[in-house]
Amino acid sequence: MDLGISGRRALVCASSKGLGKGCAMALAEAGVDLVLNARGAEALEATAEEIRAAHGVNVTTVAGDITAEDARAKVLTEAGDVDILVTNAGGPPPGMWSDWTRDDFIKALDANMLTPIALMTALLPGMTDRGWGRVVNITSQSVKAPIPQLGLSNAARTGLTGYVAGTARQVADKGVCINNLLPGSHATDRATALEKGIATARNVSMDEAQKIRLAAIPSGRYGTIEEFGATCAFLCSQHAGFIIGQNILLDGGQTNATI
Ligand code: NAP
Repeated sequence: MDLGISGRRALVCASSKGLGKGCAMALAEAGVDLVLNARGAEALEATAEEIRAAHGVNVTTVAGDITAEDARAKVLTEAGDVDILVTNAGGPPPGMWSDWTRDDFIKALDANMLTPIALMTALLPGMTDRGWGRVVNITSQSVKAPIPQLGLSNAARTGLTGYVAGTARQVADKGVCINNLLPGSHATDRATALEKGIATARNVSMDEAQKIRLAAIPSGRYGTIEEFGATCAFLCSQHAGFIIGQNILLDGGQTNATI
């Protein structure tokens, strides 16, 4: 399917690895020029080179912490008038409700709620002026069904979801579509980190920890970054113009709900 976005420009945050990289790859395959960001410059440049070689699109990189105001300003300067924004950043660590301090919550809110809001605040005016835009926020299945040990993530991402629900409806008549993509369990470094958490907490091997996680997924496997990226690219496509303020779950059936 021709996604109808060849020649458009996208900013994909936190995209040297994992789900962000999957989104960047799929957008590049659709002919979209990219601005990529991550903290580590080496992996970021390697991903940019891989994408240039595979798809021949223009890719620029800005290394820096997207949750920090100064680095975010540099990313936004490079991004300029992008048509597409994919927000993403690392997730907060797991833990126990009784241990979390105000500072822990502020950090989580900064990374997973206020950073995507700041990016949208900066880029939505250009999109609405030009009459076309797409925003995809990478959130988590935890906004539909809480993951108890990820309380910091549950809280921050649910706040973002509420913001998107209203804001998406305020810009929809200007040709701008904002939606959220909710990963379940995907084969990335984050999955390995979560497996380590289980292995330590339950005193089991990494293999055993992976089996425990996979047993909860009806598909019996982790999702891939390619299928995640393809869904993101579709939400950024010309064909997704009537999809507004939705939360699209990619979780292999893990969230046990009828709708
Ligand atoms: P990942 O494989 O660990 O990749 C994270 C990417 O983001 C890397 O490129 C990393 O590069 C970059 N990054 C992290 N923090 C950043 C920051 N502050 N500023 C700029 N770049 C940053 O993670 P993932 O699995 O793709 O997860 C992406 C998001 O989805 C996370 O918020 C995660 O919590 C959420 N999620 C993932 C899953 C899953 O199963 N994978 C499930 C639910 C939710 P640098 O380290 O070099 O910055």
